[in-house]
Amino acid sequence: MGNADLREQAGGLFPGGVSSPVRSFRAVPDEPVPIARAEGARLYDIEGREYIDYVAAYGPLILGHAHPAVVAAVGEAAAGGTAFGALSPGEVALGTRISEATGLERLRFVNSGTEATMTAIRLARAATGRDLVVKFEGCYHGHSDGLLVKAGSGVATLGLSDSAGVPESIAGSTAVLPYNDADALAQWFAAHAEETAAVIVEPVAGNMGVVPPEDAFMEALQTVPREHGALLINDEIITGFRLRYGLSGLLPEADIVCLGKVIGGGLPVGALGGRAELMSQLAPEGPVYQAGTLSGNPLVMAAGTATLDALRDGRPYQRAEELARYLQNGLNTAVRRSEADACVVRRGSLLSLFFHTEPPRDYAEALECDTATFARFHAAMLARGVMLAPSQYEAWFVSAAHTEADIDQTVRAAAEALREASPGPVASSGGP
Ligand SMILES: *Cc1c(COP(=O)(O)O)cnc(C)c1O
Repeated sequence: MGNADLREQAGGLFPGGVSSPVRSFRAVPDEPVPIARAEGARLYDIEGREYIDYVAAYGPLILGHAHPAVVAAVGEAAAGGTAFGALSPGEVALGTRISEATGLERLRFVNSGTEATMTAIRLARAATGRDLVVKFEGCYHGHSDGLLVKAGSGVATLGLSDSAGVPESIAGSTAVLPYNDADALAQWFAAHAEETAAVIVEPVAGNMGVVPPEDAFMEALQTVPREHGALLINDEIITGFRLRYGLSGLLPEADIVCLGKVIGGGLPVGALGGRAELMSQLAPEGPVYQAGTLSGNPLVMAAGTATLDALRDGRPYQRAEELARYLQNGLNTAVRRSEADACVVRRGSLLSLFFHTEPPRDYAEALECDTATFARFHAAMLARGVMLAPSQYEAWFVSAAHTEADIDQTVRAAAEALREASPGPVASSGGP
């Protein structure tokens, strides 16, 4: 079976032919590429074509695909039973590692980042007795009703600001403020302190492209909500164990931290954690109900534990960051030579090539990007065997499994793709 046949079968089975919208390639000229297998920094489609991968499953795979220690751990766990519906040693193994590295006193494992943020908000509402939640434009916190407001990449790529099917009564309990705007946060609390349960934020925004935080914003996040009795929810689902071993360190005063992605080594996972006294409000100790048939699943716990053990000495971070810096330099040179209207932003092993003159500092600026040029660039990169996420608003994820040769190949491809994608009169469409 070829790529096109599989896509056609999937198209009949799944809305958009995919199990998650951003995979549908709606915003770029190509069709989704069905992946048969992956190893290291490489993806292989079902026709055997090879790609250098910067999607990395949208974040978890900092060690690359099919890392031998992770594969072995999952295999061993699976042979001992795939789910128990009971406490098992794997939860304690991974939980201990996370708690030691982050200082989070108590944790709850869930099955996705969406569940982690959803539960964090329920907990914050219960703890404060208030309803309103503040989020920031362009930050994504999963697809629960109340958080799907101006939520970045997926919805932005589809040209939606919100989702249909979310009752106004629920959307209305979420306030949306501009990212990196400390004044807007202060003004919000000046007017709504009494009603506001929590502020949720990505410490480095990763779902409108990579938008690093400004110091004044981080400072305000850690002081203003607290002064008014509201909680700070730090969504480190991308950044946790990605920028370094543990949390990003950007929001040490946060009350609740959400994790996911890297801590599951590529299996479905989420977690939330915080002070013991706050976390003990979760059932069965407290009145905030949350549950999960497969939460703390032994395969997931084994993959996460093997991943953290491989990361612990810090070398994979140094390696991934060194490669990402090398990629950033190469892309910067290619941008200068092509005279493309573009810029490169990097934090650790997260990178964005924005078709925008200056690095965006918030969602409004990110939305000014030239997404038509991005689309042609994406097609030109794909034609050269480089797999980027099919959206201007997703980060490029560099892993410790990439090599200098991969980066060189990527930069050469980018130099050509930038010329091919540029909107000048002689530009070709680039797509096959
Ligand atoms: C991916 C992501 C989520 C949602 O996680 P899922 O596992 O996809 O539900 C939440 N917050 C951030 C910052 C994310 O990047």
